[in-house]
Amino acid sequence: MDIIYKSTRGDKREYTASEAIIKGLCDDGGLFVPDRFPKFDFDLAELAELDYRQTAFRVMKEFLTDYSDEELLDCINKAYDDKFDDKDIAPLVKKGDQYYLELFHGKTIAFKDMALSILPHLLTTAMKKNNDDKEVVILTATSGDTGKAALAGFADVKGTRIIVFYPKGGVSRIQELQMVTEKGKNTRVIGVKGNFDDCQSGVKEIFNDEELKKELAGKGYEFSSANSINIGRLIPQVAYYVYAYGRMVKNGAIKAGEELNFVVPTGNFGNILAAYYAKRSGLPLGKLICASNENKVLFDFFKTGRYDKNREFILTSSPSMDILISSNLERLIYFACGCDTGKNAELMKSLNEKGIYELEGKMREGLKDFYGSYAGEDEVFSTIKSVYEETGYIIDTHTAVAAAAERKYRAEGLDENKCVIVSTASPYKFTRNVMKAIGQESGEPDDFFLIDKLGELSKVKVPPAVEEIRNAKILHDTVCEVSEMKEIVRSSL
Ligand SMILES: *Cc1c(COP(=O)(O)O)cnc(C)c1O
Repeated sequence: MDIIYKSTRGDKREYTASEAIIKGLCDDGGLFVPDRFPKFDFDLAELAELDYRQTAFRVMKEFLTDYSDEELLDCINKAYDDKFDDKDIAPLVKKGDQYYLELFHGKTIAFKDMALSILPHLLTTAMKKNNDDKEVVILTATSGDTGKAALAGFADVKGTRIIVFYPKGGVSRIQELQMVTEKGKNTRVIGVKGNFDDCQSGVKEIFNDEELKKELAGKGYEFSSANSINIGRLIPQVAYYVYAYGRMVKNGAIKAGEELNFVVPTGNFGNILAAYYAKRSGLPLGKLICASNENKVLFDFFKTGRYDKNREFILTSSPSMDILISSNLERLIYFACGCDTGKNAELMKSLNEKGIYELEGKMREGLKDFYGSYAGEDEVFSTIKSVYEETGYIIDTHTAVAAAAERKYRAEGLDENKCVIVSTASPYKFTRNVMKAIGQESGEPDDFFLIDKLGELSKVKVPPAVEEIRNAKILHDTVCEVSEMKEIVRSSL
């Protein structure tokens, strides 16, 4: 039986997976959720023998039920190929006593490549399936990594255009260079004078603007989102949790069926939500440890049941997690409410109007698979340093938030499960802070000098993604106010 996608906020219309991928966001502002979770029926011991593409196929087939096997295989083969600089695509490595799932071997050396390398193919296939001949316009707000990953995925893909908004001054130099040097003819990159939440709210507003939508439909355009709210982003991410589980069985770290924990450096709650989907679909996972940086809204939420975004926004060394409104959390709240869309809509309205909502006792039960943790800036830096000193392995600032959380979780002694740290970015993406942490930065103005030095210290070759931007020309230099975002979109089309 097909899995149907519906809104978290009460709109009763039903969508197939491909329709939901085209639409991105529901008309009532809600997010698409599956009407039920599939039951993975793969043999866990057999799973250990599958490669990444085979695993992705098994997993995605369960959720994207209106795609044919041929269509899915075609998308998977186009996405997970030699664009990745490791043949395992998502290698699981052991350093010291720690397991790391490295999700940074794609084109932009961060985990968003895992989903954004396949989304354009899922989307263009969906358009074909639904006889939709409009040109898709991807609108994306980025806290740094989504932007370039989306640009790389959609660049020069026929029938698509992409406009990316990023917080000017709120992303790393390397992240900004990656975006503003993008060559794709169908791309636009715009710096916004505001933070990530401003960019994201601006994009949501454009999506919800019926008048603008109509105007553009008249010109043959249709909006879609490459943000992590699109189920075409979420579902491909379920695959690497299943894959990592298989690797842990294969290397003898766990037995098939044994519970495994994951620690996930979290911002918009997309990555860790995929782990939750894997668990609900039958993968034997234990705790999902949600690691936040100093913007610890989620830590407070898991502790108290109260979500409160009314606080200072802190710029940290892990900018891709500097987020006060974690959009994908709504999908968890929806399940925690027992799929009560009325209740969920009420909570989201409260979030929108007051910046706060609170779960009642019974609903908090629905959060029991999660454990919230956070790391302050000092801990992030000291963790990078100690991991390096103990193992020679150099982790990035986001991964370090998770590694610090893992230590705290261990120290609490809540269970004996093995734990995998989800490694979301290459240290080459956040070189300056990483080098600072290991005592190798002394104010050199040139990031590339530090990059070369990091290469010597880590004995890991500078990835092609970084070499590419070393001498690239800046092609995008527009900066705008939050209030101008809509006009920019209108005038771009
Ligand atoms: C986006 C991102 C995160 C946060 O992932 P979410 O799915 O938004 O929770 C963590 N680390 C890096 C490097 C990222 O790019």
